[in-house]
Amino acid sequence: MLSIDLRGKTAVVTGSTVGIGLAIAKSLAQAGAAVVVNGRKQDAVDQAVEAVRRHTPGASVQGVAADLGTAEGCQQLAAQATRCDILVNNLGIYGTTPFLEIGDDEWQRYWDVNIMSGVRMSRAYMPQMLERNWGRVVFIASESALNIPADMVHYGTSKTAMLGLARGLAKMAAGTGVTVNSVLPGPTLSEGAAQMLMATAAPGQTLEEAGVAFVKQNRPSSIIGRAAQLEEVANMVAYVASPLSSATTGAALRVEGGIVDSL
Ligand code: NAD
Repeated sequence: MLSIDLRGKTAVVTGSTVGIGLAIAKSLAQAGAAVVVNGRKQDAVDQAVEAVRRHTPGASVQGVAADLGTAEGCQQLAAQATRCDILVNNLGIYGTTPFLEIGDDEWQRYWDVNIMSGVRMSRAYMPQMLERNWGRVVFIASESALNIPADMVHYGTSKTAMLGLARGLAKMAAGTGVTVNSVLPGPTLSEGAAQMLMATAAPGQTLEEAGVAFVKQNRPSSIIGRAAQLEEVANMVAYVASPLSSATTGAALRVEGGIVDSL
């Protein structure tokens, strides 16, 4: 039987108190990894630790409250969670704002949170992975990295930069057992996306229905014609985090239901 076995590995998932990050933490714990969850607030982190333990009784779960949009927060996470075999740079902020209304401060915030968190955590954890000659770094990018939305230029640009970062780090680890890849979700039913979707939903629409309506209107090239469930993204991450994916590196792996219309 082909199975994803992460026993003996420790995974750090950034920005994982809810949404895609929490789903990834649950999947990796279910596959046997010890996991570290992170968010900014201690009570949300404690709840996420409990949620992973409920999902996989007996799982080894640590929680670290730290704001990874700052250098200090990244140092705090690395100091409190010292071991890392699998780093999932999931943290990312998003929102629709017209380009002409986005000032320098907002561009800088997107850069600090979406890119520098991944730069800093990779710099903190990749040396020990290279030393052990095994490791996985996974960046959660977006289809918006390729298909830049006109109303999310700042977000799409940050995700395009992320693809460059991941590809470069994969080359840096050439010839070792450390792989670096990006996973590109499309619209996915996380807490953050739900807020955006329900703000424009028709009265009485469920979240799933709002997802279908959003995809039809805003991502009409989607082949699946709906938003993804959290687990559909987490499953790809569990595979690429596992020993099974050892010949996949420097790749941009799509979980976006076919929105990006290219082969
Ligand atoms: P979400 O908004 O539902 O959750 C964000 C998580 O990040 C929360 O745990 C929050 O506490 C944490 N967080 C926010 N700022 C933080 C900070 N400064 N330091 C530490 N933690 C912080 O997010 P999501 O929708 O699950 O998105 C996760 C990733 O997937 C992001 O990188 C996002 O860009 C990407 N993505 C999401 C979608 C989607 O439709 N949901 C689509 C494509 C890509």
